[in-house]
Amino acid sequence: MRILVVEDDAPLAEVLRRGLTEDGYATDVVGRLVDATHAVQVNSYDLVILDRGLPDGDGRTLCADMRSRGDGTAVLMLTARDGLGDKVEGLDAGADDYLTKPFDYPELTARIRALLRRPADSQTPILTHGEIEMDPASRRVSRSSITIPLTAREFALLERMLRAPGHTHARTDLLESVWDANYDGLSNVVDVHIANLRRKLELPGHDDPIETVRGVGYRLTPAEAST
Ligand code: CA
Repeated sequence: MRILVVEDDAPLAEVLRRGLTEDGYATDVVGRLVDATHAVQVNSYDLVILDRGLPDGDGRTLCADMRSRGDGTAVLMLTARDGLGDKVEGLDAGADDYLTKPFDYPELTARIRALLRRPADSQTPILTHGEIEMDPASRRVSRSSITIPLTAREFALLERMLRAPGHTHARTDLLESVWDANYDGLSNVVDVHIANLRRKLELPGHDDPIETVRGVGYRLTPAEAST
């Protein structure tokens, strides 16, 4: 899951970047409308958190622009104003939800989960593949009922694959969905994390659940689904 934060208040933007990254979201942060407009055109986001009061304009115009281009990415609008008129304006521009500043971080994450259809309650579907089970709400993963502790990145990689079990995931797709645009570390970071994930999911007498598709990327081993 990849999130764009459009917020010119630097301390708030930093709190959001840190919190969302810790929660396992790939998070990009920009502070101006012009940079946000560019970011949504070149990257693919699951959610945009959009401040209305930006130095070069009203965040609402970005939302309206995205909708006019047929971009249905979820938008959560932030506003310092608490008037009913501001809420209506935001929703009219195509925002999916809005939050008035100041807000508590847990309130924000609750809204995010709702928008990404990952409710925190027990209604959340458990993702399974063979003996692997993932509960996105509690962020717990197990194989054959043995709990497997994963880092936020490993969790995000596995979740991406579990949500599209028959799909081959290109390295670049995994990199884009799990790491943010400022990532400038090792180019083989996906391979390194997949190797760690494999090691953690390893169980004696069980097949490797992740298959390498030469020259492309990774997919879940089909045989695992039928065991
Ligand atoms: Ca602002």
